[in-house]
Amino acid sequence: MGKQMGIEITHGLNGREKTIGERHYQLDGYAEIVDQSGSTISIGFDYRGCRWHPCPFNCSTRQVESVCEKKDKERVLYLQKHLDQYKTIQSCKWLEEFKTIDDEESPEFYPFLMKTKVVYEDLLELVRKKKFFGFVQCDVTSPQDIIDINKSSVKLPPIFKKLQITEKMIPEEFRGQSKFPKEVNTLVYNEKQGVHTSEMLNFYIDLGMKISNIKFIMFYHRAEPFKGFVNDLVKRRITYADKNMKESEKVIKIILNSFYGRLGLNKTKYKKTEFIHANSLLG
Ligand SMILES: [Zn+2]
Repeated sequence: MGKQMGIEITHGLNGREKTIGERHYQLDGYAEIVDQSGSTISIGFDYRGCRWHPCPFNCSTRQVESVCEKKDKERVLYLQKHLDQYKTIQSCKWLEEFKTIDDEESPEFYPFLMKTKVVYEDLLELVRKKKFFGFVQCDVTSPQDIIDINKSSVKLPPIFKKLQITEKMIPEEFRGQSKFPKEVNTLVYNEKQGVHTSEMLNFYIDLGMKISNIKFIMFYHRAEPFKGFVNDLVKRRITYADKNMKESEKVIKIILNSFYGRLGLNKTKYKKTEFIHANSLLG
C-alpha cells in the first residue's frame, strides 16, 4: 500500500502504532504527507477483519466475536473527524485484491504473508530466487565445473570458513613454522550447515554454486542503522591521516573493524534467542 501510494506508512512493524485524539484510538497504519500548498495531511489506515467488524459486503466470513456495532461506528466517525483522510479495507476485499497483486509488490519483510502453509520447497525457492534479506543456515556446494572455472580465474574458493588444519594440509615450505593442528579462517568450496547472509548466498548462486538442506531462514528489515556513525568515523580517519596522527587513525580503524559486533559470525556461541520489539531495543 505504501509503495503504491508513494508514501511511508508507520505501523506496528516499523515503529509504533499511531493513536488518534484524546480517545487514543489505535490505527493499523498512519502517514503524513505535505500537499502542494505546503500543509500537512494526515492519513489513517485500518484493516477491518470480517470476523470481528461488521462487513458491509455481507461476505461468507462468519463473525465469531463481533465488536459492539455502536462503538465501532463511534470510532469510525471519530477517526474521520480527527484525520484528513481515513482509509479502511474489509478483510474479504483485501483477500480478493491480494490475489491480483504481483510478486514484486509483496513486502520484502515477509514473503509468506497470507499464506496458510509454508513448506520446505517454498524456502528453497525463496533463497534460489533471491527474494529475501537476512540469514540462512544451509549447505553450499560447488559442482566440479564451477570449481574448475574458479581455479582458472580468481583461484580463491569463495566461502569463508573456520577450519582445523593439520600440518599435512599446508605446502611443505610452510611446515615447521607454527603449531598444528590449529584453527584458521580459510576459504573453501563446500560447506555444510554454515550461516550465510542473503547477500553472500546471492553471490554464491551467481557463481553457479548450489544451495540445499536449509535449516532456518531469518528475515531482517533492510536498513542502514550505522550509516551516520560510519560516515562520521571515516571522515575522522581521513582527517587524522591528513594530519599524520597515526595512533588516532589506528583507534578509528579498530573501532570501525569491531563495532558491528559478532552478529551472524559464529552460531555456536548463541544458544538463547529473544525477540525484542524495536521500541524496547532503543529504550
Ligand atoms: Zn467481509
